[in-house]
Amino acid sequence: MSDNVDSAEIDKFDALAHRWWDPEGDFRALHDINPARLQFIREHADLGTGEVVDVGCGGGILSESMARTGAVVTGIDLATSPLTVARLHALESGVEITYQESSPEQLAAERPGAFHTVTCLEMIEHVPDYSSVVRACADLCVPGGHVFFSTINRHPKAYALAVLGAEYVLNLLPRGTHNYSKFIRPSELAHAVRHAGLGVRRMAGMFYNPITRQCTLTRNLDVNYLLHATKS
Ligand code: SAH
Repeated sequence: MSDNVDSAEIDKFDALAHRWWDPEGDFRALHDINPARLQFIREHADLGTGEVVDVGCGGGILSESMARTGAVVTGIDLATSPLTVARLHALESGVEITYQESSPEQLAAERPGAFHTVTCLEMIEHVPDYSSVVRACADLCVPGGHVFFSTINRHPKAYALAVLGAEYVLNLLPRGTHNYSKFIRPSELAHAVRHAGLGVRRMAGMFYNPITRQCTLTRNLDVNYLLHATKS
């Protein structure tokens, strides 16, 4: 196992795995925001070109949605139970996806430059050192390929909405899902991305309305945001 892993975080996702595909359950916010995330990815990368790796795929919400567009997807995660759930769900849905228990650092050592598109969504705020994950994602990507990240901004508004609001007021996420100090400012992520040899192409905020359960892309990066980078 890679050193860059917080085992308490992995245990948390392991314990919740059986709830992953319940659209009304603990991961409902991930289900609700997935169409907007997929739209952002497809606007910038052609998922039909080459292979795609979904880093920190969990139960496979994003992996499956990409595979359904025809993409050849590998999903990796270090939590065993979400991967089991992901494999079963793919079988039930009739989509072909390769799921592998691996950290991005391990896979980057095994298959450098093997992927045209690398996605790493809502994962980097759960690891001890996000720059190491960013570097591994850059290594996994072929020159000319695309890398996508999403995370939560370390901004007071994100504390109010993504921690207090989502975990304590609306019970949208299990309490303790997010640790504010692990949130990453867009400037910090952009710095790590450039440092890994990637070019930042675009950032977009995600505005999620928990009442209507709609998610739209916005220019405001104060809470959840996506980043698109390319490797030259
Ligand atoms: N990317 C998915 C799931 C996000 S939840 C989605 O957005 O739909 C975060 C996931 O990251 C969990 O499944 C957790 O097990 C995984 N994770 C955390 N640390 C990891 C690490 N070091 N290597 C691989 N996966 C990790």
